[in-house]
Amino acid sequence: MDTRTPGATKNLWDAGEVEGFSELEALAYRSNLLGADRSVANFGGGNTSTKAKGRDHLGREVDILWVKGSGSDLATIKADRFTGLKLDEVLPLMERNSMSDEEMVAYLASCQLRPDMPRGSIETLLHAFVPYPQVDHTHPDAVNMICCARGGEELAAECFGEEAVWIPYIRPGFTLSKQVGEAVRDNPDARFVLLAKHGLVTWGRPTRRATRAPSRPSTGPPGSSRRGPRNLLADDRSSRPRPGDARSFWPVSCPRCAERSPRGQAKLRTRSCA
Ligand SMILES: [Zn+2]
Repeated sequence: MDTRTPGATKNLWDAGEVEGFSELEALAYRSNLLGADRSVANFGGGNTSTKAKGRDHLGREVDILWVKGSGSDLATIKADRFTGLKLDEVLPLMERNSMSDEEMVAYLASCQLRPDMPRGSIETLLHAFVPYPQVDHTHPDAVNMICCARGGEELAAECFGEEAVWIPYIRPGFTLSKQVGEAVRDNPDARFVLLAKHGLVTWGRPTRRATRAPSRPSTGPPGSSRRGPRNLLADDRSSRPRPGDARSFWPVSCPRCAERSPRGQAKLRTRSCA
């Protein structure tokens, strides 16, 4: 089945706009672009992140995960509403088998660069565990037409083949974050994750080059290696993450917002994870 819709994706990214921006400022810009279309990111829903070098309170260089603070809206969020977390302290959680929400929130609070930063989203660990520098999680209407459909997993396989990883429904929290992180590492050819009854996870290389050509669904049968055109930036296979390599921020293309729902189409109810 050919599900491609030429021209369905409009790339709003303007390289001139982010000239001179820090990674954090560019993250805010990218988030605003996502939130500008409510069929991609509903009010307060979704979360975005970037991983970048920075300084802690002692001036030491550290790896920082900047992730949307809870309660902010992607359409209007500014740089000061993202939470900075010391990645070296967060990533060891990959070794855990389980963690309650309360335990996770308390642990992440202790990883913040400063105590007065906003509390991170309940899906903060999802962003930490995906081994790429830019991660976006949204609930696009068009994507959720598949994620929430009866037989959605089979439909996704038919549309996207190995480019998509399907995660059966589980409520947001530690276990979902770990499942997504492991799935991305175990499927180096995957370009995005579909969360059943929930939404989409995409990733990319440094912000300035993350939003080039949109992806198109596979035109081959399930499991086929025949795929639609790739972003040229995605074909740097030598720099793909290795399974279990939690520290590697490697590039692939970003298929964000690959499709949009037609105007007037009924919105699906999805779990918000703001
Ligand atoms: Zn969500």
